[in-house]
Amino acid sequence: MPRYEYRCRTCGDTFELSRPMAQSSDPAMCPAGHGDTVKLLSTVAVGGTASAPAAAPRGGGGGGGCCGGGCCG
Ligand SMILES: [Zn+2]
Repeated sequence: MPRYEYRCRTCGDTFELSRPMAQSSDPAMCPAGHGDTVKLLSTVAVGGTASAPAAAPRGGGGGGGCCGGGCCG
């Protein structure tokens, strides 16, 4: 079972919990009884938001600057 690290925003303490991955984002209870906790970033590499930049459609005939011919008038 993976371990997750949390930090209590009430007392500033950090603690670890072993819980199923499905509950990794569930609220964790501070050992001191505080409920205002945040999950710290794990060292496990999780899939990020890496995505290839979308290529802007480019080509003759239309795209950009349609006012050249006075069509916006
Ligand atoms: Zn606490």
